[in-house]
Amino acid sequence: MKTIKVIGAGLAGCEASIKLAELGFEVELYDMKPSKKSPAHELTLPAEIVCSNSLGAEEVTTGSGLFKYELDKLGCRLLEIARKSRVKAGRALAVDRAIFSENVKKLLEEKGVKLIEKEIIEFPIEGPVIYATGPLTSEGLAENMREFFSNEKFYFYDAIAPVIDKDSIDMNIAFIGGRYQEDAGDYINCPFTEEQYNVFYNELINAEQHELKDFEKGHFFESCMPIEEIASRGPKTPLFGPMRPVGFEHYIDFIPYAVLQLRQDDMIGSCYNMVGFQTNLKYSEQKRVFSLIPGLENAKFVRYGQMHKNIYVNSPEKLNSDFSVKGLEDVYLAGQITGVEGYVESIFTGLYVAYKFASKYGKFKDFKIPIDTISGGIIRYITEYSGKNFQPMNANFGLLPNPGKIRDKKLKKKIMADKSIELFDNFIKNFY
Ligand SMILES: Cc1cc2nc3c(=O)[nH]c(=O)nc-3n(C[C@H](O)[C@H](O)[C@H](O)COP(=O)(O)OP(=O)(O)OC[C@H]3O[C@@H](n4cnc5c(N)ncnc54)[C@H](O)[C@@H]3O)c2cc1C
Repeated sequence: MKTIKVIGAGLAGCEASIKLAELGFEVELYDMKPSKKSPAHELTLPAEIVCSNSLGAEEVTTGSGLFKYELDKLGCRLLEIARKSRVKAGRALAVDRAIFSENVKKLLEEKGVKLIEKEIIEFPIEGPVIYATGPLTSEGLAENMREFFSNEKFYFYDAIAPVIDKDSIDMNIAFIGGRYQEDAGDYINCPFTEEQYNVFYNELINAEQHELKDFEKGHFFESCMPIEEIASRGPKTPLFGPMRPVGFEHYIDFIPYAVLQLRQDDMIGSCYNMVGFQTNLKYSEQKRVFSLIPGLENAKFVRYGQMHKNIYVNSPEKLNSDFSVKGLEDVYLAGQITGVEGYVESIFTGLYVAYKFASKYGKFKDFKIPIDTISGGIIRYITEYSGKNFQPMNANFGLLPNPGKIRDKKLKKKIMADKSIELFDNFIKNFY
């Protein structure tokens, strides 16, 4: 068997490489970092978490939690490492991004994956190869892919939230606590009075943004919407989203009109990110407007928010069910470029391609995840979606079959989760 080349040592590329090495394949993992970095990547290490440090919820009654259950059963290594690198974030699995990446690098080395620093421009190169170059694939390669796939809808826009130095937060105003009991000690919260919120809101919606070209407008991804875009939908919209004021009554002596939450970003707790505050405002405007947030009057920004063009392929038309490219021999795609959205979803596709590749070359009988599970639903969506507007997808209960009318929403989710777990457990029992 020839050596497998994996292009892109991001989340998908690292998971695929580790699993392939564990399954007995020789792997070369290419990345252009550290000599060349995308606008969002900063670390010199592999598997970089570029924005929020949260990998989402863990309870199986959430789409993200149920998805993690399945990934654990599949022996997902990056998820194991995430738990070893976790920081406090209530019910969410949040990580120290540098420690996470260091641990991934260690495991790659332990498994004998050969890390090679090189930018790959050509598409396709001779297989076996997995392209996992992510939503910010470097320009030359992205252009070659676009040409190959003759894909007009090859991008959408995503934004990063700012990160703040903890010592610059005024803790006489901000307070530690959480919306839910389990989050109690995990977040720093900045409470607004109605008057403070109105001043902040007006400045936010009138603040200067980095300019988007006409063809770039209106391509935001719904679950990573810039805060100014959310606010432009109406003064109350942020209050039902990232600035929801509920659950804080016990902490302060007034009922806040709005609350911004800050989540720990590193293990030592020196940096905090602004939860749900992805933004495209100019840097000077971020400093001016976000300093109107109570407690952040003198905030020092460790990193400003940014916005980026994310690319993805029209996978239902271009990929086979094992994520190999139609018409090419042993050329695969993995990661966000396939049209999944999210860290864990990207990791999963790397794992999926590794297993599919291994079954093709006789390591297993077959690797066919039941479609009525979250991961099975994602694969079906990516490779079989038949509508006109293929959009990136994250793990959610909408991917599961509807059990019919059940009024109690919690009960409905529990029934759906139980069924999905049963199917997945059976699949795993017969697979290994
Ligand atoms: C700005 C931004 C913010 C995001 N925020 C979140 C978030 O908060 N939560 C969330 O769940 N998801 C978020 N995502 C989405 C997604 O989960 C991440 O982008 C995720 O890292 C994608 O994983 P990946 O493996 O596909 O790509 P990546 O992790 O980006 O890895 C791709 C790797 O390929 C390398 N590379 C690129 N081009 C080449 C080339 N030509 N040759 C060699 N190497 C190359 C890069 O250096 C990189 O290391 C965000 C995405 C972006 C762009």
